[in-house]
Amino acid sequence: MTIPLTRRTLLGATLAAPSLVHAQAAARLLVVGGGFGGATAASFARREYPWLDVTLVEQRQSYVTCPYSNRVLAGDLALPDITHGYEGLRAMGVRVIHDRAVHLDPVARRLRLGGGETLSYDRMILSPGIALRYEALEGYDEAASTRMPHAWIAADGAQITLLRRQLEAMPDGGVVGLVIPPNPYRCPPGPYERISLIASYLSKHKPRSKILALDAKDTFSKQALFQDAWQALYPGMIEWVSATNDGRVVRVDPEAMVLETEFGTHHRVDVANVIPPQTAAAIATEGELADSTGWVPVNPRTLESRIAPGIHVVGDAMFPGPMPKSGFLANSEAKAAVSAAAALLRGAAPPEPVFVNTCYSHIGPDYAISVANIFHADTGAGSFLEVPGSGGTSPRGGLPEQRRLEALHADGWYASITRDMFGS
Ligand SMILES: Cc1cc2nc3c(=O)[nH]c(=O)nc-3n(C[C@H](O)[C@H](O)[C@H](O)COP(=O)(O)OP(=O)(O)OC[C@H]3O[C@@H](n4cnc5c(N)ncnc54)[C@H](O)[C@@H]3O)c2cc1C
Repeated sequence: MTIPLTRRTLLGATLAAPSLVHAQAAARLLVVGGGFGGATAASFARREYPWLDVTLVEQRQSYVTCPYSNRVLAGDLALPDITHGYEGLRAMGVRVIHDRAVHLDPVARRLRLGGGETLSYDRMILSPGIALRYEALEGYDEAASTRMPHAWIAADGAQITLLRRQLEAMPDGGVVGLVIPPNPYRCPPGPYERISLIASYLSKHKPRSKILALDAKDTFSKQALFQDAWQALYPGMIEWVSATNDGRVVRVDPEAMVLETEFGTHHRVDVANVIPPQTAAAIATEGELADSTGWVPVNPRTLESRIAPGIHVVGDAMFPGPMPKSGFLANSEAKAAVSAAAALLRGAAPPEPVFVNTCYSHIGPDYAISVANIFHADTGAGSFLEVPGSGGTSPRGGLPEQRRLEALHADGWYASITRDMFGS
């Protein structure tokens, strides 16, 4: 896949905070998790702070991105187009270890790996992503996800491939059911992009089919833009049911392919995409870094854990206040965390971070919309705040050229951010 770079989409990749320190003795930066937050942290640290000795621990040999996975579901892209290796990071001088982090010891500043090795560090950047809260939805567990895929943790791409195959096998006139969780969860507009791109596929290949989207919320990100586009591009195909209209699913039956709602309605579907509630990944919760929210509280200026000093937590595992859980923000947070860690290692004051986000959503192959925000750290209040007047969404209205250009910008964003993360 060739994706062009654009000026606008380079924004996130180039928002590198300036280096505070000059080459001295190597200090050990240990990065755990090689996704949006972790891969960015490793590459950024090598580029901006060459005196840091950087090790990355990632359990998988390659990384499949969630961004653009909905385009794989639509059949516009294939899995290899969204799969990235770690050779680029190795070439930059990062020591990459493929193993599972199993035990954190923040006091001794050590990490034990599943293979038995123990790594010592001076500062850690932890970006392990999310875990699914299977227990939050009756009838749903890992076994059920082989029949009703979530496709919400891209991992090796197996869940995305499974959902795609189910859509291909479904007869024309079938019903695709989606179960959408309450806030907060990974990628607020993601389920609605998925509805759109499944509709894009069905409208071309199985036009008598329907999509039933059962939501645990009453409103969602970029709602008016999505609903306008559904009406214009896929009239009559999508039924979105809000929580107050009995959209909240409380139980699933994978054998009978039934989704049961709070008010007792049973929906029989042909394909079910169940996105369960989420929490921080196991290494963060088992390491007792997460609080009662299920997410990891951090100091907003340094992204350092409030519970475990020396561990900076970024990406979806972190409690972000008003910031959405997005890959773009994980990238921005990782740069801020590395800059803070480098400063603290040199006894300097951490810089004031700025966190940027643009979330593109495709509604069809040449049709995309976006939402953008900028946030800063309110150290006094101990939270993240949106910079007033900094954000916005695409304008409403029949604007085909704007939608086409946003689809191109989205491609540029994907190309630039993955190059920024993986160095190639
Ligand atoms: C369908 C969908 C579409 C999306 N689209 C967009 C989009 O268009 N734009 C956008 O900005 N965001 C998008 N997102 C959100 C984005 O994918 C996440 O916000 C982002 O991946 C978060 O990065 P992270 O580093 O926190 O976690 P991840 O990217 O999930 O990375 C975590 C990594 O840690 C590894 N890991 C976990 N535990 C361990 C352990 N114990 N030991 C070793 N390794 C471990 C995992 O294998 C993984 O590689 C989308 C998400 C979905 C589901």
